[in-house]
Amino acid sequence: MFNSKHIFGEFPVQNDEAVVLRSVEFSESSNVLTIFTRNSGKIHCLAKGARQLKNPFESSLDLMAHIFVTYISKKGEQLDLLTEAKLIKRFRPRDENYAGVFAGLYFIELLNELTADHDPNKQLFDLATATLRRFAVGTNVCRTLLRAEWKLLERIGHLPSLEHCIECNKTLDPQTNQHRIAFGLVDGGVLCSNCRSGRSQVVTVSADGLRTLNTMASSDRNLWRTLPIQNETMYEIRGLTNQFIMNLTSKRLKMLNYTSTIARYDRQEEMTEQPKQINQSQHKDTDVQNAKEQ
Ligand SMILES: [Zn+2]
Repeated sequence: MFNSKHIFGEFPVQNDEAVVLRSVEFSESSNVLTIFTRNSGKIHCLAKGARQLKNPFESSLDLMAHIFVTYISKKGEQLDLLTEAKLIKRFRPRDENYAGVFAGLYFIELLNELTADHDPNKQLFDLATATLRRFAVGTNVCRTLLRAEWKLLERIGHLPSLEHCIECNKTLDPQTNQHRIAFGLVDGGVLCSNCRSGRSQVVTVSADGLRTLNTMASSDRNLWRTLPIQNETMYEIRGLTNQFIMNLTSKRLKMLNYTSTIARYDRQEEMTEQPKQINQSQHKDTDVQNAKEQ
């Protein structure tokens, strides 16, 4: 359904699903968008007329929106040309859901930073749409964000080793290990006592923190929702995740400053597998059928 159908001159016309990651004013009437598409990965496209009242995009180009797009793929050029966009689901947070809004903005910044252009990753796309739907609900945002970050790291091939020493492969079982465990930010994982000496940028993580991170990165689809997490552990693994991501991106993301705000406004509620519908008006946006979290 979403394959290229027509050829526009020498350029193929693509139909796809996408999430809006970034929007920058290009001219008085147009914007340049960065969108993460399901079938072609991240692309940059010119949305001519997007800033005019009447435009072919039906007010669908807000940040974090999940949309259908039609674009002309201008291979070899910097910008593709967006010709049509329709809303699948707008990011519409509950009232005063600051935690969800900030987490969503941070997550799309992270997605933009850690993905390469034209590198499709359908699992990552589905993770992104499911995560944004959860953020819009506005409960358990800290937990949802950690899950999303660690699954994102896994899907781009940067998941740190949490069970085996990154150097010698010795198993470091947090179930039996009551001491703090060394974690190499540059090495990308835990280090046994023999291998940790002489290395730079090594921090330590508690056994409880490590167990929690293991659950966040786990392939089990439900455990991360129900695992009891002490505030102290949440604070610890939030800090470690920030440090690891800063090392990976070699910079401090703008929205990273808001992680404490996210924690302050977050509310805990029992989590269901699919986020609840918020109210009747939200049914107007076509529900997403295929964005199941893995
Ligand atoms: Zn070792």
